[in-house]
Amino acid sequence: MEQIIQKAYAKINIGLDVLRRREDGYHELKMIMQTVDLGDDLVISRTDAPGIVLETECREIPSDGSNLICRAAELLLREQDIEGGVKIALTKRIPVAAGMAGGSADAAAAMRGINELFGLDYSVQELQRLGVRLGADIPYCLVGGTMLSEGIGEILTPLPSPPDCFLVIAKPDINVSTAFVYSRLRIGELTEHPDIDGMVRALYAGSLSGITDRLGNVLETVTVKEYPVIAQIKERLCGMGAENALMSGSGPSVFGIFTDRDSAQRAAAALKAERFSGQICVTTFKRDILQQ
Ligand code: ATP
Repeated sequence: MEQIIQKAYAKINIGLDVLRRREDGYHELKMIMQTVDLGDDLVISRTDAPGIVLETECREIPSDGSNLICRAAELLLREQDIEGGVKIALTKRIPVAAGMAGGSADAAAAMRGINELFGLDYSVQELQRLGVRLGADIPYCLVGGTMLSEGIGEILTPLPSPPDCFLVIAKPDINVSTAFVYSRLRIGELTEHPDIDGMVRALYAGSLSGITDRLGNVLETVTVKEYPVIAQIKERLCGMGAENALMSGSGPSVFGIFTDRDSAQRAAAALKAERFSGQICVTTFKRDILQQ
């Protein structure tokens, strides 16, 4: 095999709680991750020449060795002492620095693709153990679907998929640094924590209202204060028929959950007509990546 195509899907958090800051600086999290049907494409080709070449038209991300795709590819090629190299062509659709794990999804797709292209025979668990060195979301992105994520993001428990519904995802034109948001978070001062256990029960019960009633993300306490536009988008989406809306990850992306496609499309069109500046899409939840 000379070439392989991999899809890198974005995630949203339907629940995100931060339990404590560990002594090593990492945060202990309890979140529910969900893959959405919005993804980048990676075309990975073997090259005789050593090294990794990344081609992309996206100007918002680095295309040199600091790109997470190159770091992930480098990690596998080095571990296996592979002589040749790879060329990776990336078509970027996932909004950048948006709280949707775009970089981690790309890195995970690169790892899956190179594993297959070179017949490396790594198990998913082995790839996860290697991937977590580059980013805490990579173990999740290697499998996707609906997962309870604990620890720093590496302890994953599969959950049932939520009932079918439609999502409007809006990313305002601001870039939010994940490191900045965590550095400003005052865990001891949080007055409310999302009901993650209740959300897990709602997923098992297949209850969409049980899920939408419990949407919660403690990082909103930092990002929304800094960027009030996030609260405005949430309010607009709920005013236009969303069952509820929430910021994903450290933001600034916001998603609204709708029970029917027409209302979701109308809400997205209305936001665009109101000169909302940023990226908007209508999409759905996506199941386990390994079962596609
Ligand atoms: P998370 O939700 O995991 O915090 P995010 O969605 O907020 O991630 P990313 O889109 O992954 O953020 O981008 C974070 C930073 O990583 C960007 O500033 C970008 O320059 C850098 N980066 C490196 N490689 C990539 C990549 N392949 N895709 C996107 N960003 C990348």
